[in-house]
Amino acid sequence: MIGEMIGYEMRLVNRICNAHGSQWRNLSAASSVIFLHDNNSFHISRLQKVVQRCAENRSIRQGTACHAQIIELGHQIDTLTSNMLINMYSKCGLLNQARHLFDQMPERSPVSWNTIIGAYTQNGIESDAFKLFMQMPREAATQFTVSSVLCACAAKSAVLECKQLHAFSLKASFDSNPFVATALVDVYAKCNFITDSILVFESMSEKTDVMWSSMVAGYVQNEFYEEAILLFHRARVTGLEHNQFMYSSVISACAALAGLIEGNQVHALLRKSGFYANVFVVSSLVDMYAKCGSIRDAYSVFSGAEFKNVVLWNAMISGFSRHACSIQVMVLFEKMQQMCLRPNEVTFVSVLSACGHMGMVDKGRKYFEMMTKEHNVSPNVYHYSCMVDVLGRKGLIYEAKDLIDDMPFDATASMWGSLLASCRVYGNVELAEVAAKQLFEIEPHNAGNHVLLSNIYAADKRWEEVASARKLLKDSEAKKERGKSWIASKDRVHTFMVGERSHPQISLIYCKLEDLLEEMKKLGYRGETKHDLHNVEDYRKEQLLWHHSEKLALAFGLLCLPSCAPVRIMKNLRICGDCHLFMKLASSITGRKIIVRDNNRFHHFENGSCSCREFW
Ligand code: ZN
Ligand code: ZN
Repeated sequence: MIGEMIGYEMRLVNRICNAHGSQWRNLSAASSVIFLHDNNSFHISRLQKVVQRCAENRSIRQGTACHAQIIELGHQIDTLTSNMLINMYSKCGLLNQARHLFDQMPERSPVSWNTIIGAYTQNGIESDAFKLFMQMPREAATQFTVSSVLCACAAKSAVLECKQLHAFSLKASFDSNPFVATALVDVYAKCNFITDSILVFESMSEKTDVMWSSMVAGYVQNEFYEEAILLFHRARVTGLEHNQFMYSSVISACAALAGLIEGNQVHALLRKSGFYANVFVVSSLVDMYAKCGSIRDAYSVFSGAEFKNVVLWNAMISGFSRHACSIQVMVLFEKMQQMCLRPNEVTFVSVLSACGHMGMVDKGRKYFEMMTKEHNVSPNVYHYSCMVDVLGRKGLIYEAKDLIDDMPFDATASMWGSLLASCRVYGNVELAEVAAKQLFEIEPHNAGNHVLLSNIYAADKRWEEVASARKLLKDSEAKKERGKSWIASKDRVHTFMVGERSHPQISLIYCKLEDLLEEMKKLGYRGETKHDLHNVEDYRKEQLLWHHSEKLALAFGLLCLPSCAPVRIMKNLRICGDCHLFMKLASSITGRKIIVRDNNRFHHFENGSCSCREFW
């Protein structure tokens, strides 16, 4: 039996050595190991030390040579030595060899099990790690094994496995171990089982800072942004020092909520902490201010940062791009290169989309080419998407369509959406139908596409097609989301639905709206109904348009905010043509800055014009 195994091992070693060429013989001679048949135990302990060193240095050639000598000394079935060899092979990335040793072992210690399972988890082979865990003798499992297999489950969002491991931890009383508990919080959050995360988190009487930050990050991943912010502050009340991961997570929660007030509070805390110089935290701060509509704050954080890396430059450039500050995008793009920083694919997305905003087709083409030729960045689907936008916005709709047809990827919904939007602006019904058909397939539940197509028909007075598009929308599963806007005043967020009736100040709001309308009518404003879907009389159409949620939010903002403050409004849907015109006129009548973030982009209204240059 043992003879057979030695034979097998030798063949294995020979195969490994052959794979490494003729080096093996030289190696064997050159290795620091001197092979002597007598004084066996002295030599095996030296060999073990060398194997450990090989594992540390990832030196597979020497390690293999040692393996050969161990076989010759007859120690390959010794548990301690085998464990070291398994460790060495797995550290060097030769998992199959590690497993083969493991499978041949007549006796396995808990260390053998944990080493091979650890090897699988570290190399991202979660399913094998989990299978071995289930086979392993229960008493061999340690808290370390459970937490490492759990981490592997997180990577694969394997919730069933996670539940089994959780049950096992409860039985083995591992659940109070901070590593196990943190891993459970993490896996459940990654698998969108946030309630289970909360249960595990709250059940811990002593919570480590890693656990707090996992829970905050878990909330953010599951889009429970308010809860993330609350937990962040709760951690502070319990006397915990926030770590940089917590700061990054909570700042991204503020960004997602467009919560400028909350963001300012976190910024104030951050200033006092030791992480204000951390470039990743600062980048998330820049991103947060840009997403909250305060591009000036974003820039002041950016320019105040002592150390700037590509991530930070990208955060600022994409912030400017989102706010349609295209000149600033170009300036920073040049500056960044002067500082010897190489723009990467993220940078080019911002630069190309800025070209789209500015209607700069030639520049867009130049940058698109520059990516591969000068910077060795091959364009991905986002860059193509930007180029479709660049061309479509200038009315080069057929060229945009050709680009979609010729590119090496499947077209995305956003590409067809951009093409459809260009078709609306340029009244191209033919390609609008093509784009819409694709969109109906990719996004069957997005009612916005149906609405956009019927708007295009309506603008062209094709009433029959309007009717059939509307019927199609009715028959499909797609549901039109109700328009909703929100605005913050005095630490409170006020939400307005389209046609809102229940807000406590609603009558004042409608009065304010009427006053504004009177002023606007003097400037020749009439509700712009051509893009509206409703098949009703003009007067009624005007009525419906007046009640759009962003107009109500604006009237509320004008009533309640200090007269010098800009009015910041968030909206869940794309702003309609009429509201866009309304905001422009309102900005010139009231002299106020109005900033609207719709689901697509920011619009900065000032002195009667908008930063988006009529493209949205
Ligand atoms: Zn509207
Ligand atoms: Zn605009």
